[in-house]
Amino acid sequence: MRPVHSFALGAWVAPGPDPREIESAITGEVIARAGGSALDMAAMRDFAVARGGAALRTMGFHDRARMIKAVALHLRERRALLYDLSFDTGATAKDHLIDVDGGIGTMLVYASKGRREMPDGLVYLDGDPEMLGQSGQFQGQHICTPKQGVAVHINAYNFPVWGMLEKLAPTWLAGMPAIVKPATSTSYVTEACVRLIHESGLVPEGALQLVTGGVSDLFDHLRGQDVVTFTGSAATGLQLRSHASLLSNTVPFTAEQDSLNASVLGPDAIPGTPEFDLFVKEVVREITVKAGQKCTAVRRIMVPEVSMDPMQDALTKALTGITVGDPRDPAMRMGALVSAAQKQDVLRAADRIGQEAERVFGDPDTMAGLRGAFLPPMLYRCDAPDDADVVHQTEAFGPVSTLIPYRDTGHAAYLMNRGGGALVASVITHDASFARDITMVAGAFHGRLYFNNRDSMADATGHGAPLPHMVHGGPGRAGGGEELGGIRAVLHYMQRTAVQGSPDILSAITGAHVTGASTDSGKRHPFTRAFDDLAIGDTLVTPARQVTLKDIETFAVFTGDTFYAHMDEEAAAANPFFPGRVAHGYLLLSFAAGLFVQPDPGPVLANTGLDNLRFMTPVSPGDSIYVHLTVKAKRRRTETYGEVRWQVTLYNQDDTQVAEYDLLTMNAY
Ligand code: NAP
Repeated sequence: MRPVHSFALGAWVAPGPDPREIESAITGEVIARAGGSALDMAAMRDFAVARGGAALRTMGFHDRARMIKAVALHLRERRALLYDLSFDTGATAKDHLIDVDGGIGTMLVYASKGRREMPDGLVYLDGDPEMLGQSGQFQGQHICTPKQGVAVHINAYNFPVWGMLEKLAPTWLAGMPAIVKPATSTSYVTEACVRLIHESGLVPEGALQLVTGGVSDLFDHLRGQDVVTFTGSAATGLQLRSHASLLSNTVPFTAEQDSLNASVLGPDAIPGTPEFDLFVKEVVREITVKAGQKCTAVRRIMVPEVSMDPMQDALTKALTGITVGDPRDPAMRMGALVSAAQKQDVLRAADRIGQEAERVFGDPDTMAGLRGAFLPPMLYRCDAPDDADVVHQTEAFGPVSTLIPYRDTGHAAYLMNRGGGALVASVITHDASFARDITMVAGAFHGRLYFNNRDSMADATGHGAPLPHMVHGGPGRAGGGEELGGIRAVLHYMQRTAVQGSPDILSAITGAHVTGASTDSGKRHPFTRAFDDLAIGDTLVTPARQVTLKDIETFAVFTGDTFYAHMDEEAAAANPFFPGRVAHGYLLLSFAAGLFVQPDPGPVLANTGLDNLRFMTPVSPGDSIYVHLTVKAKRRRTETYGEVRWQVTLYNQDDTQVAEYDLLTMNAY
């Protein structure tokens, strides 16, 4: 019998005298006990804030990203332990890849995005500075800094590892500590994962605490700097989001709830097309992976009326090949539901669906001989979906799905939307106009739309897979929340603040040069100074260079760019943008480099790109240009070099801006 501990105030706490029993999904035997311990929730919150939050906030985004990567690699080396435990939740070896490897992979993506897309500092910049006054000496910038409370993550039972890690990664990257409360029925897997993280010694004390069992009075102690995320049923979500303390303290609450996800077969995808076969494959996978206990599983299968019979035949044939049994047996394609209670829940929901639809595949009685919480895949068929209600409203959280006909594009989108807001819908079609028309009607009701066909199927990641790069969540019934989506999720754990002030003030706060801030042009050429010797605001002002007609013609002939604006005085003058022949923009960029480059070997290793290039004023033959090159931002990239972002501004002889861009170089430390 495994006692499932909580981890509170830096110590492991055993279950109390009246814990909940947890059964094996495979045998039905009690294998673990959890909960019932008297945890001091107020102290846990304070501990998270005072220790975990304080320690995380002294680290920059890149330090935290490195920490997340190290934790992920630590878990990856030890994942076999988590696989082993997960079998008892009913999951097959393939299911472990989604939960365990999926969770670790999500952490790795966040670690990488944190280093590539966030600054090497403490403040995240949301957008560019806004000019708020005439002279440029009063500007605004949106910044994000970590919330100074704790993130409470309440997770569903179906993904005990992924559910925790996909929320921890953005939370930690933002700089917030977390208290994780897994669903009791699979909490032994989460507990093992938290033990591995704790044993790694990679995470500051207080950055992660674990509550197994109930959360007691935790919500009473939450305040406006805290965040609650919830994944689970709509009923629990409603109960939690209406907690008086969350409402009176305006604690942000993000929910990921049930979802009546649809998969739609395009009218073009008739039997015999690659799309028809792809649809069968995707739908069967979504019904059977994790025994259908996936928030994104396909609950409603929508096909053109004429394809109902062929699709029913194809699905029936494919589902016949699904072996159900002990997930430790590699021959089994589908494991068990998490518990006998969950199995009963699913059967009750299936019975309700059965009032409006006919079961055409999968008899639960065939599993009666098995001890665990086993069910076969069950396919229903509803020929009158407009009159149906339960079919569009009932999430049987198991291997249950309903086949539904649609008449035309509008009808398909209407039926999709009858789910009342969903996490995802897939559309299998090779007809781009059908995809576009569906999107215009169903987009607002869905957090994600997944299109797949013969062109994308080799690469496609699957209807049901929430990816760290893309948002996961949905409107209405799906909870109205949003997770993942790259750096978007990190911002849920940060406060966005509009800061207004002079460029010097904004530069000091953001750690990035703001146009108009003081510069220092009194030092050695910046290309001769190592990464660590460059300060934000260091500037080189070059001498001027005249641009002649001969320069323009030579460049035109050399590059082949003989566009009339450079070569034909009359045609150029007729163009509303030009006074006559003008220099090529690319010629000006090249001359700018010629003006600011220091040619000798030195710390500048490579030019890796230009961002935000704008040509503002045409340069006519006889005009001159000079350049301001200013260190705008820096980020360390590897052990030996970092990236320098230079603000480059070209001026003409009247000090009017001609062009502006960011130049990126890699510089040795
Ligand atoms: P659930 O019964 O609503 O439980 C979800 C979580 O809430 C569990 O950790 C549960 O803990 C906790 N909880 C329940 N009552 C609570 C209370 N009064 N105070 C604090 N915490 C409380 O859902 P589930 O059965 O675990 O999961 C299945 C549901 O989750 C399905 O409806 C599915 O669609 C949904 N789901 C959604 C997503 C998504 O991303 N949208 C993902 C996965 C699952 P205990 O276990 O200790 O009761």
